[in-house]
Amino acid sequence: PKYVYRFSEGDKDQKDLLGGKGANLAEMTRLGLPVPPGFTITTDACRAYLADGAVPDELAVQVTTALREVEEELGRELGAPEDPLLVSVRSGAKFSMPGMMETVLNIGLNDSSVEGLAEVSGDARFAWDSYRRLIQMFGKTVLDIDGGHFSGALDAKKASRGVALDYELDVDALTELVEEYKAIVREQAGIDFPQDPRGQLDMATEAVFRSWNTERAHIYRRREKIPHDLGTAVNVCTMVFGNMGQTSGTGVCFTRDPSTGRSGVYGDYLVNAQGEDVVAGIRNTLSLADLESLDPESYKDLRAAMRKLETHYRDLCDIEFTIERGKLWLLQTRVGKRTAAAAFRVATQLVDERLITTDEALTRVTGDQLTQLMFPQFSTTGERDLLTKAMPASPGAAVGFIAFDNAEAIARAEAGESVILVRRETNPDDLPGMVAASGVLTARGGKTSHAAVVARGMGKTCVCGAEALEVDAAAKTVRVAGRDELLTSEDIIAIDGTTGEVFLGSVEVADSPVMTYLRRGLETALDSAGDIDNRELITSVDRLMRHADKVRRLAVRANADTPDDARHAIHRGAEGVGLCRTEHMFLGERKKFVQNLILASTDAEREAALAVLLPLQKDDFAQMMTTMNGKPMTVRLIDPPLHEFLPDLTELSVKVAVDREKGVLDPADESLLAVVRKSHEANPMLGLRGARLLLTMPGLIELQVRAIAEAAVERLRAGGDPRPEIMIPLIGSIRELQIARERAEAVLAEVGAESGYDLSFPIGCMIELPRAAVTSSHVAEEADFFSFGTNDLTQTTWGFSRDDVETSFVGHYIDEAIFGTSPFESIDVDGVGAMVRLGVEGGRSTKPGMKMGVCGEHGGDPDSIAFFHSVGIDYVSCSPFRVPVARLEAGRAAV
Ligand code: ADP
Ligand code: MG
Ligand code: MG
Repeated sequence: PKYVYRFSEGDKDQKDLLGGKGANLAEMTRLGLPVPPGFTITTDACRAYLADGAVPDELAVQVTTALREVEEELGRELGAPEDPLLVSVRSGAKFSMPGMMETVLNIGLNDSSVEGLAEVSGDARFAWDSYRRLIQMFGKTVLDIDGGHFSGALDAKKASRGVALDYELDVDALTELVEEYKAIVREQAGIDFPQDPRGQLDMATEAVFRSWNTERAHIYRRREKIPHDLGTAVNVCTMVFGNMGQTSGTGVCFTRDPSTGRSGVYGDYLVNAQGEDVVAGIRNTLSLADLESLDPESYKDLRAAMRKLETHYRDLCDIEFTIERGKLWLLQTRVGKRTAAAAFRVATQLVDERLITTDEALTRVTGDQLTQLMFPQFSTTGERDLLTKAMPASPGAAVGFIAFDNAEAIARAEAGESVILVRRETNPDDLPGMVAASGVLTARGGKTSHAAVVARGMGKTCVCGAEALEVDAAAKTVRVAGRDELLTSEDIIAIDGTTGEVFLGSVEVADSPVMTYLRRGLETALDSAGDIDNRELITSVDRLMRHADKVRRLAVRANADTPDDARHAIHRGAEGVGLCRTEHMFLGERKKFVQNLILASTDAEREAALAVLLPLQKDDFAQMMTTMNGKPMTVRLIDPPLHEFLPDLTELSVKVAVDREKGVLDPADESLLAVVRKSHEANPMLGLRGARLLLTMPGLIELQVRAIAEAAVERLRAGGDPRPEIMIPLIGSIRELQIARERAEAVLAEVGAESGYDLSFPIGCMIELPRAAVTSSHVAEEADFFSFGTNDLTQTTWGFSRDDVETSFVGHYIDEAIFGTSPFESIDVDGVGAMVRLGVEGGRSTKPGMKMGVCGEHGGDPDSIAFFHSVGIDYVSCSPFRVPVARLEAGRAAV
């Protein structure tokens, strides 16, 4: 197979094979942008290596060919003693994994080529500095030597020379340092630092392949739901130098602000620096405006490249660039990560600039991003003790105790505390602590530092570059410039990722502007929005929500049991109630009335018990129908197993035994115990519940349907428009539905005749047992609609119960890639999804156009919604909070 592609051969659509970085390097090359020549080793090669533990033979040959082509093009040879070609070896997977994988710069330097580099560059200091960087990076990432050995030697050298900064070391010092570094390599790795340039290249390539399987990479992929079997590509790229003095430098820029979504370019630049210096946040950076006054020519070229890339990708791009002695080079680009707010604003900006259509804009935002925006922010009123203001790197409001390292952040988060991870700067090792913390605060680094990039990706609040803070991780203290107190792990701080403010103590949190919009509408939200960023955000969200509503085919209903829930749902745009559970009408205070019903041994007793429940239920339904006036409301008849209405078997047994001993036994308790014992089930989830309970317990269906019918009559008399739909849960056979339906219809007819109203409400059933799905064409004969109960359908298709498995093996199954995600979170398309498809097709084969809904948590899950759209479901029903998310996702599914 072809394992190696020159940058000039690939394009942006080959991310599977070339990785994101490689595909985009190829695309930039095709566009004629200044990319240093190079080639990409494919993910196929990585997968082959990971499978066999060895590099495929053909790879070495293909690398030679590609390398010679680059050498010919440039007239230089890799690591040659005179004018050496140097390369970087850079990982790049299909999905960007910031900081996860390793990059080695300056490959090709050795004891003789370093002299050649000094000669051609006319800068011996630069050459030796590049060499010591190579040994350091190679030692750490390829040979697995603890970086502390190198940084220790570097610090010692600076101390002995009496200088503070790396670049103040002179040639002499650097030459000595290189010898010391080589000694470290010999001591720690047991080999001499490899002098053969090609050997360096091959070892670095293998190291990149191996780094796919580091723990850090695994954690990141699990979190981001990236499959573990993709592998990474390796990019071999001619070195250009940002560390060749004051007319050189390196930077990162964005074509729009990835944090707020404001239009206008944004970036960080560092003079006389190489590679990771910017990203690591080691020195503080300059802005693009500074670059413009420093080097107007390069700035102009950069702006032209940014515009070209944005026009080409038709989206916000981020770009890594280097300027070598006044010449601009582009080292990376991609469609940039952005905050949720920026995603909405950029999408509508691009529509306004006629770069994309409104349909496309919908595909640029996600339900998850909308969810993030629905969370609260700090309120601006009230007492606040401002410690400092720094870079707002990832929005949101986070309050918590200070945690200084991973271990502390994880332990305290597990103990239920909210913590803010406070670091001088972060590096990839801090990932577990960042995951555990509510927010991240760093003292060094800009918006493009590691902490900022990773936090934005995770939707985690982050403030960075808070230089007023002096963080001592070893002593676990923070000193704040200009203040006396010393902060410790016992102090609570609050960080605002939108403004960059850091407060001492807890700060009150206010509603999100997007939530205000969703609840109260555009006008009110705009009035109370405060700043222009919020106003533009609300407008963008409104435009995209309205477009989603316009294009979507799926209707959105809510699961609501009470008038309050129903009201919330309607405000958020629900078009009906897809699931009104009736169990709460039997619990709490009313449990004892149900017990009387269960205990009734004569018809008279039973009727008395039912008579007590009827007015209560009727009243509940009437209230719901008032709220849902004119909108459909699916009422599910009682579903849960009997034991939920009865006392706990063990507790009651003990009470009866003790009372008997004491001679105070209540005979009622004794007969209750007999019933509890009789109805005890080993697995109630699969026991007497749903249709089975309704058909077994005399009078229950009649009670519930009469309550619905009488409530409807009351509403009709008052001029209302009640639209109940009666739904029978957990049916497995058509016969169950037939019986339930006959009994329900009889009551509707009776109440109809009494009142003179036509009460022929739709009667349907849930499809939540495989048998019902398999026999759906038959079941449809008795059903006016189906509603897929995907929670139970997941349990019954897989044969496990949610309560039992979520804490036991689901996590393990995800690690083992048996599940992509929990099947309770996102529908299992192949299995449970196939049941849904079967149900829809079967139902419609009997009754074309039959109404199909989904209730259950999947109704609010973005991925599942796209699936439901594709199989022809008519509506999804989800929790009121998720209604806007479902509307947006239904729109996305339709474009
Ligand atoms: P990451 O995926 O972590 O961004 P990169 O492969 O982009 O890693 O490398 C990190 C940095 O190293 C880049 O931002 C760039 O500044 C520098 N770098 C990589 N390759 C080269 C090169 N050929 N010449 C100069 N600098 C490079
Ligand atoms: Mg990069
Ligand atoms: Mg169910």
